[in-house]
Amino acid sequence: MDEKRILVTQPSLPAMDDYIKEIEGIWQDHWLTNFGSRHNQLCEKLKEFLDIPQVSLFSNGHLALEAMLEAFDLEGEVITTPFTFASTTHAIVRKGLTPVFCDIDKYTYCIDHRKIEELITPKTCAILPVHVYGMICDVEAIQKIAQKYNLKVIYDGAHAFGVKKDGIGIGRFGDATMFSFHATKVFHTIEGGAIAYSDENLRMKFHQLQNFGFGDSDDAELVGGNAKMNEFQAAMGLCNLRRIDMAMEARKQVMERYMERLSGVDGLVLPPEQPGVQRNYAYLPVRFEKNQFGEDRDQVKKRLESHNIFSRKYFYPLTSAFECYKGRLNGGNTPIAQAISETVLALPIYEGLTQADVDRVCDVILEGHK
Ligand SMILES: *Cc1c(COP(=O)(O)O)cnc(C)c1O
Repeated sequence: MDEKRILVTQPSLPAMDDYIKEIEGIWQDHWLTNFGSRHNQLCEKLKEFLDIPQVSLFSNGHLALEAMLEAFDLEGEVITTPFTFASTTHAIVRKGLTPVFCDIDKYTYCIDHRKIEELITPKTCAILPVHVYGMICDVEAIQKIAQKYNLKVIYDGAHAFGVKKDGIGIGRFGDATMFSFHATKVFHTIEGGAIAYSDENLRMKFHQLQNFGFGDSDDAELVGGNAKMNEFQAAMGLCNLRRIDMAMEARKQVMERYMERLSGVDGLVLPPEQPGVQRNYAYLPVRFEKNQFGEDRDQVKKRLESHNIFSRKYFYPLTSAFECYKGRLNGGNTPIAQAISETVLALPIYEGLTQADVDRVCDVILEGHK
């Protein structure tokens, strides 16, 4: 194969010296985990950057999601989307709750708020929407429904780091929002995650849930697990946060080049811009409609691979169709989610991708256009 390999993503890394400087203090403190000084510093800096009132850091995003579901003592059914990463649905099921799948909006790929009400039953306790690819749900409409039926709203904001709506941090909406700091996300702490929330009373609850149930005493007050962020993770976060604006700007350039090259092509659907939304350029989902484009998603993916370019069927299959849920969950009526999952391809986008790389990806894609 002639050309350099291009993967769908590549983790951002600070200069090695920066990280070494940041972790040097750990050898002086001899404090490696359990709410150390880097952990606390990162909390303060994230509150400011994300424009959120409260934050709790976690060892990863998935455990943060599970902690949110536990913190609100939920029981019964949770209305959610099947067009998401496995984590969202698994968290609901692992916490003994039943996911009820709602269809998605065909432009934003987020839960279709117009279809939520018809799914509400006396057993419904919460809505768990996902800000898919960093595009945002209709947070106001969802809030109205939640108020009317007295439901909790818990957002999976794994993709939405740094996103703002009319200047307001996306983590301010709903009862709580999870952000993932996994290596592949826009901002990362190697593995890691956080919960953003407003109610100060939740702080101790999240602390106990991630620390074996211990609060201020030696007596466990609830049956907690272990999901603390350690000092090496927090140090990586501090380094990455110092360069986040630059990293997002680089992604923006990549996104704009893709837009220049691919907009206006028949049968090729690019992600929309949402008015008033400050984006984070996390993902580049493109849809291929075979009749107009000439090739279907799988054909484009295969041809890219033959040129050493790796895209991802993200998200396919729907979580409701997973093997582990066969005969166990009601898949619901989600034709739009199904159609999107069969036509969408996430193209390579990351900080280090050059304009020449983007052009190479686009050239190969456009070869398939009839
Ligand atoms: C990455 C991701 C998660 C899980 O986060 P981790 O930090 O990897 O545990 C959950 N939901 C979505 C939509 C994600 O993309």
